Amino acid sequence: MPANLAEIPAPLLRWYDNQARQLPWRSQPTPYRVWVSEIMLQQTRVEAVKPYFERFMQALPSLPHLAQASEQQLLKLWEGLGYYSRARNLHRAAGTVLRQHGGELPADYQQLLALPGIGEYTAGAIASIAFGLCYPAIDGNVLRVAARLCANGQDIALPTTKAQLKQEVTAVLPHARVGDFNQALMELGATVCLPGTPRCPSCPLQTHCHGLAQGVAAQLPVKAPRKRRKLEQRTVFVLLYGGSIGLLRRPESGLLAGLWELPNLPQHLTPRQAHEQLAAWGGRQFSLTSAPAAKHIFTHIEWHMQGYLAQLEQPIPGLPGLCWFTPAQLGGEATLPAAFRVYRALALRSLLEPQQIRLQNPKGA
Ligand code: SF4
Repeated sequence: MPANLAEIPAPLLRWYDNQARQLPWRSQPTPYRVWVSEIMLQQTRVEAVKPYFERFMQALPSLPHLAQASEQQLLKLWEGLGYYSRARNLHRAAGTVLRQHGGELPADYQQLLALPGIGEYTAGAIASIAFGLCYPAIDGNVLRVAARLCANGQDIALPTTKAQLKQEVTAVLPHARVGDFNQALMELGATVCLPGTPRCPSCPLQTHCHGLAQGVAAQLPVKAPRKRRKLEQRTVFVLLYGGSIGLLRRPESGLLAGLWELPNLPQHLTPRQAHEQLAAWGGRQFSLTSAPAAKHIFTHIEWHMQGYLAQLEQPIPGLPGLCWFTPAQLGGEATLPAAFRVYRALALRSLLEPQQIRLQNPKGA
């Protein structure tokens, strides 16, 4: 059966009008609000984004506010959302829009695409939702829905498959309600045409779905096995001195570029090796205790961390770039990525309630 999505806009839009979730960014879909929400929603669940979006809009209610915010304020508002390059690109793009477009996002797909951090999907979402321009917004949800509707059995990760499905969707975009149509497809993918088992009996498109008709909907889309994530062992040091915690800046490129981090090394160190490492950094008088293990999953890498908490009697001279922050500064100007959340919490507890910490002294330390 050839793919033909021509009949889906009407039932889909009817369903969307009745069933769409109330989301903060759907009220007043100004270009700025649509843009910020779309960037936040990349790789992040709707429920997790909601409070961040509200807080962000209160602090930076317009694009000029964002452009003039400090990176520190922005990263603080983003703290915990992860993928910090999104926040940095948002900031850079806001600066560009202020300089080149008078502070208003351009109502032009190609100009949107030229801004930092805006790819085809986001440009399509802003163009269609905020400006009513006839462009598709093809994210993972939409690809899955389209693959099932068309019973497309090609590998969904292939550019040719994506191009084919994009073409099918683009061909049926309703000019009068293109933004709602794009959102409706995403909404259907997020709430009905779910990954794994689609809820076809509740779907407004069941009579138009080739995947359902052919009994293959749940097997679609086809995905080639993903490359396994690289596993990295790391040892994290929580260094405390005089009521402060020691942090380093990460390099300006690569993973967590330019963010603060707790000193850490590749490999798991034994307590004795950790002790020797601290001594090699110039630590003379300190107590060293083991801290809980933790895991953090990035897109392509998994960190398997073990930690040590060191109470220093003197600063250590042999760790270039080490800066000391009080608990108040850790909650303010120094933003630690979520990867260190376990050790950040430990540091704060140790600094604020030292008598309540019961850590086990490791053997050999
Ligand atoms: Fe997805 Fe089922 Fe609807 Fe087809 S009928 S679009 S597979 S939920």
